[in-house]
Amino acid sequence: MPFTKLGLSKPLLEGVQAMGYGEPTPVQLRAIPPALEGRDVIASAQTGTGKTAAFALPALQRLGHHGKLRCLVLEPTRELAMQVETSMRDLARFTDLKVSSVFGGVGYGKQRSALRDGIDVLVATPGRLEDHLQQGTLKLDQIEVLVLDEVDRMLDVGFLQPMKRIIAKCPKDRQTLFFSATLPPEIAQLAAWALRDPIRIEIGASRSVTSTVKHGVYVTDQGGKYGLLLALLEATEYDSVLIFSRTKHGADRIAKRLRASNHSVAVLHANRSQNQRIEALEGFKSGRYGVMVATDIAARGIDVAGVSHVINYDIPQHPEDYVHRIGRTGRAQRSGDAFTLVAHDELKKLAAIERFIGQKIDRLHLEGKNVPKQGDDAAPRAPKPEPRLDGRPSRPRRRPFRR
Ligand code: AMP
Repeated sequence: MPFTKLGLSKPLLEGVQAMGYGEPTPVQLRAIPPALEGRDVIASAQTGTGKTAAFALPALQRLGHHGKLRCLVLEPTRELAMQVETSMRDLARFTDLKVSSVFGGVGYGKQRSALRDGIDVLVATPGRLEDHLQQGTLKLDQIEVLVLDEVDRMLDVGFLQPMKRIIAKCPKDRQTLFFSATLPPEIAQLAAWALRDPIRIEIGASRSVTSTVKHGVYVTDQGGKYGLLLALLEATEYDSVLIFSRTKHGADRIAKRLRASNHSVAVLHANRSQNQRIEALEGFKSGRYGVMVATDIAARGIDVAGVSHVINYDIPQHPEDYVHRIGRTGRAQRSGDAFTLVAHDELKKLAAIERFIGQKIDRLHLEGKNVPKQGDDAAPRAPKPEPRLDGRPSRPRRRPFRR
């Protein structure tokens, strides 16, 4: 079904067209019509499924024309807030609606003056939003559409209580659009409190890996990880590589070593200043940096068109993070590759991820670089696939038949 059949207004359809979107994605197809009717929506959709436009378009349509602050979008991180603000502004470019954002780590001046000048949509992180509420620079008593995005991550970073306080300040007869990659019981409870008779939408299983991503693991010694990473980067024709590190310190260390090997590297984690984070993200998006090393929370939801490869330097701590991390590549139907470096003592975590996603992940081999121990659930020794430049296997990989 084309966008034109969804009941969107002309200026929004022009916005969609200017974004270059051909057809609606499944979450857009299912969320936009009920949201346009004013229904509450609870959607579990993976990142990269097009969920921003799924809430932005009906919200913008409901607002219609420039007036007062009537739509609030809550995001767990500054990066997501900036990204969603940009997408909403782009989609609204043929309307007279004003979109702005507030998040921490930057001064209050510009945010205050944007609020004073009058906006229709505010994209915010909970902490800074509460600061503005306390200072009296904004009020939520006219909110008609409340969007709660990435709610599971919101809970991970400790925003449950602030989020509840903020929701309680919005009018009760609002429309609420609720997006979360996973819906564990405490999130379902929050949804039951915040939503009214919602339409439920589940797009794919949030456990599944985007089908456009080819993913595999390299089993190695912990001490051999850096050498393997370097060899992988050198053997891979990448456009842009996102490397995940478990810790901020680890991210800095990897970046330092890669720079010493002449890679252009940006770093993104919570200890970096807002300006450093913006510079890293912009530099990575523009291609000035071919590699970005990031921690989970900082990179969550980041949308960089054309991330060609994701490398998990450390195996994700939670199985669902595996899905989120590798969802950075292969976004919106583009294909991408994702590799995970797994130390022998991380094999249990690998098994947990495989149980979670319900599939075995291919074991890959880079000649002379990762040597699985005998008995590890690792790559078959023979026949060894010749590594291709892009790291993909050149022959079908099959686990040897075991009796
Ligand atoms: P999101 O899940 O909202 O972060 O979107 C992921 C990416 O898909 C973004 O780069 C969007 O601009 C893009 N996108 C969203 N909707 C569509 C669509 N209908 N067709 C093509 N790309 C889209």
